[in-house]
Amino acid sequence: MQSSDTAFQQCIRPECGKRYALGEALVACSACGGLLDVSYEWDRLTPPKRLADLQGLWSRRSDPLAFSGVWRFYDLLPFAPRDRVVTVGEGQTLLQSADSVAKFVGSNPGRLFLQYEGMNPSGSFKDNGMSAAFTHAHWIGAKRAACASTGNTSASLALYSAVSRLMQAVIFIGSGKISYGKLSQALDFGALTIQIAGDFDDAMQRVREVSQRLGIYLVNSVNPFRLEGQKTIMLRVLEALGWEVPDWIVVPGGNLGNSSAFGKAFSELKMLGLIDRVPRLAVINAAGANTLHGLYNGQGLRWNDGNVDQAKITAFYRTMDEEKRRASTIASAIEINRPVNLDKCLRALATCDGVVRETTDQEILDAKAQVGAGGLGCEPASAASVAGAKQLVAEGVIGRDERVVCILTGHQLKDPTATVAYHTTDQEQFNKVLGERGVKRASFANRAVAVSNDLDEIERAIQLDG
Ligand SMILES: *Cc1c(COP(=O)(O)O)cnc(C)c1O
Ligand SMILES: [Zn+2]
Repeated sequence: MQSSDTAFQQCIRPECGKRYALGEALVACSACGGLLDVSYEWDRLTPPKRLADLQGLWSRRSDPLAFSGVWRFYDLLPFAPRDRVVTVGEGQTLLQSADSVAKFVGSNPGRLFLQYEGMNPSGSFKDNGMSAAFTHAHWIGAKRAACASTGNTSASLALYSAVSRLMQAVIFIGSGKISYGKLSQALDFGALTIQIAGDFDDAMQRVREVSQRLGIYLVNSVNPFRLEGQKTIMLRVLEALGWEVPDWIVVPGGNLGNSSAFGKAFSELKMLGLIDRVPRLAVINAAGANTLHGLYNGQGLRWNDGNVDQAKITAFYRTMDEEKRRASTIASAIEINRPVNLDKCLRALATCDGVVRETTDQEILDAKAQVGAGGLGCEPASAASVAGAKQLVAEGVIGRDERVVCILTGHQLKDPTATVAYHTTDQEQFNKVLGERGVKRASFANRAVAVSNDLDEIERAIQLDG
């Protein structure tokens, strides 16, 4: 690769701050173990003077970089030469003003927006980051890329590998947890899929060891380049709002890559003078995988200008292990107890005056049904954002008239099992899939009407519904 002197990798801990060249494939600071950022020498680069100037790029959409919803914002993530960018046309997503969901959340009409990241090529927001990680991996000459995944990262990695033909994909998944929608993608795209007897946290641990040992490029969100791609989700939100900053961004929290990327996006935009204020950030855990909530709200853990109290985290994980607590939620994409981007997320919460909440599987599924009934639909984890927003409005933390953007991270068809079990009339199926998770009722079930194969009966069923 050619060297770039306008961007570098840097340890996020201010007291360390060690810098690394872009050509290194790292997932942690070798001096202190901290997470890494991609940092830029902005005064030697050409960031846009006004965000609205970026809009003109649409007129050149036969150019793959202008077409991509990630690389249209190249000037705000200029870590690789333009001609090395790997894109499959990701980021054609949309922001919908959803009044029926607003009503459910408690927001006033016109104040609640859903950002549909499920419209990405592999059906989740992960493609934003995968495009950036592939760009870096290919640029530095990697031939194999790996990830541990609850499903969507593997689907995305497998897709980029299949479409670009640049890299072999190696996927680590836990056993029994992954939804069929996601597993089917990895298999169909031809990725080498390794199913470990363990959960996501186990798979994550192993993939780190294996990629280190075999020199395989790691594309989990500990990879700082992935988060550069995910910054653009916020740019598209701003674009869709006519470059006005909303009051709140609400996002589900799993490995905390998205929330971290959003915080970085806003702090850079503010620093560059491209926005005059940052929105507030709400990160929503599932109650069955609530490490961030436990540490942030229970233990008062904060970014603290970069001096995160690591002893608190260690003690928290020790107790978790002693009590043999395993992540458990229907929202499998956020079924993670050891979020790898914890420190970065704390930084984002500091940047955006953030809050953290947890939501039960019951609340998540009811919110998901409301999203489906009033919008384009989403998978369970995504609905945690809507359930969280509802909670925050009820608490009065989010004002009814504030502009709220909930990020819908994954497509409705990712996890049909959960959706069908929610709407089913078959109590046995309901109990098997949802009852075990403490879900007691399907408040917004749309039940199929069973009729015999008889014209009169069918007619009655339709009129009854009418
Ligand atoms: C990966 C994923 C998440 C969690 O995002 P993090 O960046 O890991 O916090 C949430 N929802 C869906 C659908 C996902 O695929
Ligand atoms: Zn360091």
